[in-house]
Amino acid sequence: MSFLKDTLSIFKKRELSFLECHKESENVYTFLFEKDSDITWKAGQHGLFNIIHRKIKNPTRPFTLAAAPSENIVRITIKIDENPSEFKYAMLELKQGMKISMSGPVGGFYLKENIPSLLIAGGIGITPFRSILKQLEEEGDSIRKPIHLLYMDSKKSFLFKEELDAIANHPSISVTYLDSRDGLYQEIEKFTSLYNNNSKYFIAGPISMVNSIASYLQNNGVLKRNIKKDVFYGYK
Ligand SMILES: Cc1cc2nc3c(=O)[nH]c(=O)nc-3n(C[C@H](O)[C@H](O)[C@H](O)COP(=O)(O)OP(=O)(O)OC[C@H]3O[C@@H](n4cnc5c(N)ncnc54)[C@H](O)[C@@H]3O)c2cc1C
Repeated sequence: MSFLKDTLSIFKKRELSFLECHKESENVYTFLFEKDSDITWKAGQHGLFNIIHRKIKNPTRPFTLAAAPSENIVRITIKIDENPSEFKYAMLELKQGMKISMSGPVGGFYLKENIPSLLIAGGIGITPFRSILKQLEEEGDSIRKPIHLLYMDSKKSFLFKEELDAIANHPSISVTYLDSRDGLYQEIEKFTSLYNNNSKYFIAGPISMVNSIASYLQNNGVLKRNIKKDVFYGYK
């Protein structure tokens, strides 16, 4: 049932009014849009965003809804390198009050059970976990099982660090920042040796990273059904 609901919502399309954009780091920007009262999502889901202020060739991209629903704003955080695609160039043109359209929210990448969970982010793959952890922070005392975030970025450009550190003050939530695969694998092993298949594993980031970590987990005895992947196509 929830699979159908998480998929069919793709047919819900609405226009969002642009509020502002700010830089998170050298090549990462956050875009904020007004949240109408009739739109909500599960922390970790994404929307399909469509450029409508001018005609471009490929006007649609999926982006994680990086705010928790309780934050009352639609937020997307995007990596924009030098020589951006036409889509990203059009995003940078947005001025207050201009519109973009969004279909969704969609996807099954969200916490369903109150069981130990390991969240593994590679680079920009931190966006769904910002939303998930913000939502957990809001829910406060109802979290009793350990939630551990492993955030890997080889350039040590850790987005949302202040917010994540503040959330990690919760006794059940912890965050480890890593800049190497070896370090990441060591942390994964610590977690699997404690919880093995009595937990869920969430991985988000570029395809090569997500697939290699999923294989590593499976080689260490984690069942496929306990691994959830959010593959950010478009990044290597
Ligand atoms: C569920 C989901 C959530 C995402 N969330 C974020 C986010 O929060 N922040 C963020 O910055 N990005 C996110 N992305 C990635 C984003 O949608 C874009 O793909 C990415 O930003 C690259 O866009 P671009 O316009 O720079 O490059 P593009 O011009 O789209 O393409 C870059 C390269 O990727 C290839 N490519 C593009 N799409 C696909 C595909 N579907 N399958 C295979 N190859 C493909 C293209 O052929 C090209 O070679 C998400 C993707 C998914 C699927």
